[in-house]
Amino acid sequence: MSGRKRDYYEVLGIARDADATEVKKAYRAQAIKYHPDKNPDDPGAAEKFREAAEAYEVLKDPQKRSQYDQYGHVGDAGGFGGGYGQGGFNVDLNDALESFLRNFGMGGGGFGDVFGGGGGGGSRGRGRNLQLELAVTLEEAARGVRKTLKVTKQVPCGDCGGSGAASGSKPTVCQHCRGHGRVRQVRQSLLGQMVTEGICPQCQGRGQIVQDPCRSCRGSGTVRGEESLEVNVPAGVSSGNYMELQGKGDAGEHGGGAGHLRVVFNVRESDLYERHGDDLLIDVPVSPVDLMLGTKIEVPTLDGKVALKIPAGTQSHKIFRMRKKGMPHVNRPGTGDQLVRVIAWTPGGLDKDLVKRLEALQSDLARRVPPPGRHHEE
Ligand SMILES: [Zn+2]
Ligand SMILES: [Zn+2]
Repeated sequence: MSGRKRDYYEVLGIARDADATEVKKAYRAQAIKYHPDKNPDDPGAAEKFREAAEAYEVLKDPQKRSQYDQYGHVGDAGGFGGGYGQGGFNVDLNDALESFLRNFGMGGGGFGDVFGGGGGGGSRGRGRNLQLELAVTLEEAARGVRKTLKVTKQVPCGDCGGSGAASGSKPTVCQHCRGHGRVRQVRQSLLGQMVTEGICPQCQGRGQIVQDPCRSCRGSGTVRGEESLEVNVPAGVSSGNYMELQGKGDAGEHGGGAGHLRVVFNVRESDLYERHGDDLLIDVPVSPVDLMLGTKIEVPTLDGKVALKIPAGTQSHKIFRMRKKGMPHVNRPGTGDQLVRVIAWTPGGLDKDLVKRLEALQSDLARRVPPPGRHHEE
């Protein structure tokens, strides 16, 4: 999903300090105005509808909202095409339609068959999508690393196997929708017969009714639990890149499928290197005499120390490029470079003898220094 995203507050037309009620009201108004079923001839409406749902999904959640307020559209700036997905939070049209139904439950009437074909079997709500951050060092990000994550989330209840029904009992098939989870309504309209389908109000779309709820999960089929997950962090990731683990989010209630887990990488700053995309910049202090006479220095790299020749007459802050010593590209072959900036390091606290010897050179060297102006090489 490329292109700039519009500001979520702007999308909903609300102030940045709007409270939860205002957010919901604004979303409802936008969603009804731009619902694709109401605007069949305006393709732009579906996008506006989708955008409003995305804004609402973020702004209704205090945690996502505060993250959005601080960082804006997280991930947009990552310069990370393809692979693991770009951009922080995306909602597609199907999500948007589902979110609308979830929030304003239009039941059997109203907007009709927004799900398209919608397979039988009833929709048992999928569990929530979760997001968590995984911190890695620059060195780990450079090589790729396997990490174990402990995720606290909703897991299927062990006592009832996720069904929500007390042991010895079983959920019964909903009589109202005969287990489909949806009910059809046939209406006469000016254009002829209109068939609409919506979520069954008796079972909320589950197709089943729990008569005798399980004590451990109070009939929901899920309980709080912890899962250990192995995550393979790909080599070359940057902060804000993420991986989506399908089915590793919260378990759905009443045996519904699990949501997704998004693992957002946070690459910690290194003491040695400053990262510029996949290039790594390192400063190496060198004595002024070494810059004048030339020398060979040892430079730390991700693959250990590498020798670098400094020619005579090198200016301070000159940058040397060591090819392919940077970070691997995450989504294509190849590796960035390491940039080595040599800095003339001027020692203080010299002893008298050294001062004497330097004074002998002082006027000689000063004469060879150019006038003020632009002398930067890079
Ligand atoms: Zn249970
Ligand atoms: Zn039903």
